[in-house]
Amino acid sequence: MTYTVKGFAALSATQPLVPFNVPRRALRADDVQIDILYTGVCHSDLHMARNDWGVSQFPVVPGHEIVGRVKAVGSKVSKFKVGDLVGVGCLVDSCRTCNSCQHDLEQYCEQGSTQTYGGVDRHDHTPTYGGYSKEIVVSEAFVLSVPENLDTKAVPPVLCAGITTWSPLRHWNVGKGSKVAVVGLGGLGHMAIKLAKALGAQVALFTRSPAKSQDALRLGASQIIVSTNEEQMKAAANQFDLIIDTVPYSHDVSPYMPTLALDGTLVFVGLIGQHPEFSTAPLIFGRRSIAGSVIGGIKETQELLDFCGEHNIVSDVEMINMADINTAYERMLKSDVKYRFVIDVANTL
Ligand SMILES: [Zn+2]
Ligand SMILES: [Zn+2]
Repeated sequence: MTYTVKGFAALSATQPLVPFNVPRRALRADDVQIDILYTGVCHSDLHMARNDWGVSQFPVVPGHEIVGRVKAVGSKVSKFKVGDLVGVGCLVDSCRTCNSCQHDLEQYCEQGSTQTYGGVDRHDHTPTYGGYSKEIVVSEAFVLSVPENLDTKAVPPVLCAGITTWSPLRHWNVGKGSKVAVVGLGGLGHMAIKLAKALGAQVALFTRSPAKSQDALRLGASQIIVSTNEEQMKAAANQFDLIIDTVPYSHDVSPYMPTLALDGTLVFVGLIGQHPEFSTAPLIFGRRSIAGSVIGGIKETQELLDFCGEHNIVSDVEMINMADINTAYERMLKSDVKYRFVIDVANTL
């Protein structure tokens, strides 16, 4: 039993996205049916649409930064009612029983979590389709409450870019007195600065382009370090408790390591793949660590949304029409967006 809603899909890796009728399942007892208002445009959307990771099954309906209102609920849904403002991020299911799932870490599900798009439903084995569509149907356990006081159209990126940086900030106990540095000022980096600052940390930005200084200061950084300037890098030695590296392509982190304090950690959140060789010396002579982190669990994502509600934090967004998605991808490739595109699904699809 399915129905279809209007959406946009990539039908192959080499064609632009086109209108597509997206199948949605009839509600199960624990399902929430959501009228989508806004969907953020993440770099993963582009990678999946173009099969950059070699795992895409076409058609691909991207979108995992989704905000909308509850249209209907299944017979056993207790957390949500019709009209509630809700969100769906990168995950729509997991095994719910493994060690990770039992500890609210569904993103690290040992069986592999079910992705919002490009995944396979655990019950009927149909492909999952994301938020470039008018509606989505998701189990209530993976639906989030969105605070009503926030600028709704700027909330979607919190669900991927936001949680990707929030989870390491929380895991490494960033708070008052912490010193955090962010590498790269894009969708992830701009959220990292806002969130670290709101947690009470002193925040620095490592950048190769001094032109980004003004923006970083506006977002909450108090220090800009031009990473190609040797003197500035030397002056930053032994400072940071946590460095969040958001750069999505292979790059050498050796220059950043000496800027970590004793026991400091550099965490990768953007780069998946090979890293150039580096010396272990700064790790050994400073008990420093290199780590990685991916999005966050449902409980932690709700904690982040509540925090954003309290501190009035949203993403910096540029609104686009659904039909402009292919142009938006081209601009995203050139980092020509401050700092996230959001599709006005309700009005333009
Ligand atoms: Zn994403
Ligand atoms: Zn699991």
